[in-house]
Amino acid sequence: MADRYLHLTGTAPGRFLTRRLGLPQPAPLRRWTLETPHLEGPLLHLTAGASAVTGVAEALSRSGLPVVANTDRPAAIVLDATGVTTAAGLGDVHAALHSVVRSLAPGGRIVVLGTVPSPDDHHQAAAQQALEGFVRSLGKETGRGSTVQLVRIPAGGAAQAAESTLRFLLSPRSAYVSGQVIELTTATAAPGPAADPAAPLTGRTALVTGAARGIGAAVASVLARDGARVIVLDVPGSREELERTADRLGATALPLDITAPDAADRIAAAAPDGLGILVHNAGITRDRRLANMPADRWASVIEVNLDSVLRTTDELLKAGVITRGGRIVATASIAGIAGNTGQTNYAASKAGIIGLVRSLGPRAAADHGVTVNAVAPGFIETKMTAAVPLFIREAGRRMNSLSQGGLPVDVAEAVAWFAQPDSTAVNGQVLRVCGQSLLGA
Ligand code: NAD
Repeated sequence: MADRYLHLTGTAPGRFLTRRLGLPQPAPLRRWTLETPHLEGPLLHLTAGASAVTGVAEALSRSGLPVVANTDRPAAIVLDATGVTTAAGLGDVHAALHSVVRSLAPGGRIVVLGTVPSPDDHHQAAAQQALEGFVRSLGKETGRGSTVQLVRIPAGGAAQAAESTLRFLLSPRSAYVSGQVIELTTATAAPGPAADPAAPLTGRTALVTGAARGIGAAVASVLARDGARVIVLDVPGSREELERTADRLGATALPLDITAPDAADRIAAAAPDGLGILVHNAGITRDRRLANMPADRWASVIEVNLDSVLRTTDELLKAGVITRGGRIVATASIAGIAGNTGQTNYAASKAGIIGLVRSLGPRAAADHGVTVNAVAPGFIETKMTAAVPLFIREAGRRMNSLSQGGLPVDVAEAVAWFAQPDSTAVNGQVLRVCGQSLLGA
């Protein structure tokens, strides 16, 4: 459903009127296109104190942006705050960004590099945790479609592990991601093999569930764009829509209810050479307040959104269908973080996904060489949200730092980042694609 307010504030009279009324001013977000794959302008590299990781300059030089130490109009700013270990050291963060933050170009990016707060050093932990509050606040201040994130690199580690993450965050692909904290792992910090930058997923087979339409179809489209062979799965009742999506993308259609007892076997049969990428996207809502919710509405949501994800993941991993270096991406929701009236079943299922990802990620990496992550979409413009009553829909759109809803492609770009061959150090993470929603912030 079209966001008419965003359209209105894109016109001069609309901007004038809404400003006078003190209403939100969403800036149109610039997303990835073949013609403009990068942000337009230089990347300003700053350091607060001494860096505690190696190779930051090299990692930034491969971000796709020209790196400078000085500029009037940065498209992106990366502040290396990995060496900040004391409360006093936080002054260096202020000093580095205070004078340049205003010069950030519209639609710009700020990425703060930190390290993991230490369980053994409460001064270091306090200083590094402080960066999270800093980043989340700055994300609410920058405006004009700009975003701010914190990337934690293990102390003493190499920034090379952060390359795929920096490429994503410092590009138009992360347009609807803000206020996020991404913690890279030590166990799997070695980057994967170098890939063709134009088609990094070449040679990989990806299966996306719930891919006939909405977010799933966008995920399938972006994975195909990045070179993957794609299998799109959806319920047999959506066969026509599924086949249309498959034809459009040059993908294979697999009409299948993911809750079927033999779903994992059918998926394995459809991917005889194994799966490099498995995206659990299928999801349903059956909203009612708990007091009015019959058991079948509870059970169907848990079954589709969580239990079938657990079951197929276990079976496909056990059978070795998900190949080494593989990627599993599940779909949570900010409802699973913030909770939502009428959605005890849905929020429970989506919070369950977060539990699954955090627990399985490290073990799947150790036992199978596979990463497990989740996207947690906020308000995304799809059929699901078009069905939401008008006032709740408008609130959902505006109650975030970017004052607008996201598009399915925004979630898809995040999935594609998790799927990158060199995203090995990104594991057990839950990335909110929500424009820094106020809900569950
Ligand atoms: P959608 O309803 O447009 O698409 C979901 C797809 O899943 C449909 O094609 C449906 O047929 C399919 N599906 C449902 N049950 C299935 C089953 N048993 N087996 C196979 N396929 C099945 O929804 P969407 O908005 O594109 O959402 C996609 C995912 O993102 C869901 O997991 C949803 O919970 C999550 N999400 C969406 C939003 C949003 O704002 N749209 C926000 C947070 C999370």
